[in-house]
Formats: sequence, C-alpha cells, structure tokens
Amino acid sequence: MIVVMEKGATEEQIESVIEKLVGLEFNIHRSTGAVHTVLGAVGPAELVDPEEFKVMDGVKECHRIMAPYQLAGRAFKPEGTVVRMESARAGAVEIGGNAVVVIAGPGSIESEEQIMRSAELVARAGARLFRAGGLRPHLSPQRNQELSEDSLKLLRRAADTFGLLLAGEATDDAQVPLVAQYADLLVAGSRNMQNYPLLRALGSSPRPVLLKRGHSATLEELLVSADCVMAGGNHNVVVCERGIRSFETSTKNTLDVTAIPVVHKLSHLPVLADPSHAAGRRDMVIPMARAAVAAGADGLMIDVHPDPDRALCEGAQSLKPEQFTDLMAQLATIAAAVGRSC
Ligand code: PEP
Ligand code: MN
Repeated sequence: MIVVMEKGATEEQIESVIEKLVGLEFNIHRSTGAVHTVLGAVGPAELVDPEEFKVMDGVKECHRIMAPYQLAGRAFKPEGTVVRMESARAGAVEIGGNAVVVIAGPGSIESEEQIMRSAELVARAGARLFRAGGLRPHLSPQRNQELSEDSLKLLRRAADTFGLLLAGEATDDAQVPLVAQYADLLVAGSRNMQNYPLLRALGSSPRPVLLKRGHSATLEELLVSADCVMAGGNHNVVVCERGIRSFETSTKNTLDVTAIPVVHKLSHLPVLADPSHAAGRRDMVIPMARAAVAAGADGLMIDVHPDPDRALCEGAQSLKPEQFTDLMAQLATIAAAVGRSC
C-alpha cells in the first residue's frame, strides 16, 4: 500500500499513520520528498481497507497497489530516482538526471596494458564509468575468470587514473563486500536477476546497484527483483535492459527498446540499455545504442576494446576505439533532440 501525505502534513500526523500501519504488521519505507511524504507499506494489504487511511488527518491518498512490487513502483517516488555516485578522481555522476551516462569497457581482463588502454580510450570519448566484464563464468570455461582482489585493484587504478567511476559485477552474495570495497556501482548480471541471496546482499550494501534484466524475464519480474534489493534498505537501484531471448536468431538477443519507456512508466528507477550483450555484434550495437537514447534511456553500458578482433572475450560485440568515439558524438546529438545531455 502507498500512503501519500498532504503537502504540509505534520510529523505527528505522519507518525500516527506509521503507527497504525505498524500495528497492522506492515513494514514501512518512508520517502520524504520536497512536497509530499510518501509511505510505502509492505504487508497484508489485501486485509486492509484503504478508506481507513484516507480519512486520517494529513493523508492525501491511499492506494492498494496491485503490482507485486511496491518500492520500485512509480507511485512510491513519482518524481523519479536519481542515483548519485562520486569519487575524488571522477567527481560526481548521476544516473537518472538530465545527462545520459555511459559505462564502457572490455568484456574481460586480459592484461594490465589492455585495461589501462581501455580505460583511457573510453574516458577520452566521454564515458563516466569503466567496466570490465569477465569476473564471472563465461560460456566457455577457459574464459572464466575468478574474482580476485588483485583484478579489482587493477580496475580501480585504471578508473582512477582516467577520472572514471567503476562498475563491478558480483556473482554471488559472498562477493558483495569485496566488490563494494572497490566498485562505485555493483552489478547483478542477467543470469543473476533472480538470485535472491545476492539481491538481499546488494540490498544491505551502501553502494548503488545496477540490476540487469534476465534473458527471459518479464519487466514485472525485473521490478520484483529491484523491490527485493530495495527492501533491504538500498534504494539506489538502476535497472538495465540487455536484450531478451526471442525467436529471432540473427542477433545474440533482441534489444527490447520498448522496455525503456515501459519501465519509466511503471517505475521511478533509472533505466540503462546494454546494446552490446543484446546485439552481440558491433555493427548492430551502434544503431541500437542510438535507438536506446532516443527512447529515453538514462544511460548505456557498452563493450569497447582497444583491439576487438584480438579480444579474448566478446570481441564481436566490442566497439573499436574510433567507433566508440564516433558513437559518443552521435549520442550527444540524439540526447539533445530529446532534451537531454550526453
Ligand atoms: C556483462 O555485462 O559482461 C554480461 C555478461 O552481461 P549480462 O549479465 O547482461 O549477460
Ligand atoms: Mn560480457
């Protein structure tokens, strides 16, 4: 249930609504906005008559929300969530604000030189966050890379050297504290969208979370998973459309561009698109990146490699340095056309 308090509702009025909800065994998540305080109440909504709350002093609206997610629902934070990260070297970056934010980097860690060159080239072209996949199982076991503190240190150093923030994937709950020591944004990969122990660990982390849509997950399921993270108290969640499995076989996956406006309608959370894992081939990544920004994506996650034809992992979907630079220039024009910056 969602209770929206009147503009100017007193603290006493808010407290008495909370007290009544707690007495009915709801868990309360309070969001104090510039105008309205909104109370998200998770509990036995089906047993409670919203009219009982609507008549209380200081209450503007009370809705029984039928969607299976509540905290991630648009009604919980109508003004939208802006996820803010900052480091001394990169300054502040906001996802969900006016600027379209680009996260970029190679599909895996191959060498120190490859990581440093990758970070340098994506930073020069205008990316704000660095990523290097591969710290998780890949299709072929020889390409698996175990998470190690040394690799996180290398990624952090690369990000800091070139004024980038770092996105880092945790593939299970036990990894979350270590990845959180080094990364500014914790990524839950597509295959882990419904890994509930991982989602709970992310929910109690102080770091923002990027939750990638499962290959075969509906948007409702994606938002239920986002809710699960948020229920732990971490409301800094960004979701990412990364292509879904469809009957079409000419690309690795099918980028569901429609997911971008749909999630914006259903949820207050920022939405990114990952055209690289969707298209699976670099010639298709470029038009899909353009389409995602035109559709209102709050940012992109893009695979870029200094020499993709020699990449050890996901070279086909990795842009060449000059392609990425050109794309960033095009995205600035597209972003401006839809009232954003890039
Ligand atoms: C990745 O980001 O490298 C990755 C494997 O993405 P996904 O989880 O979307 O497949
Ligand atoms: Mn990858």
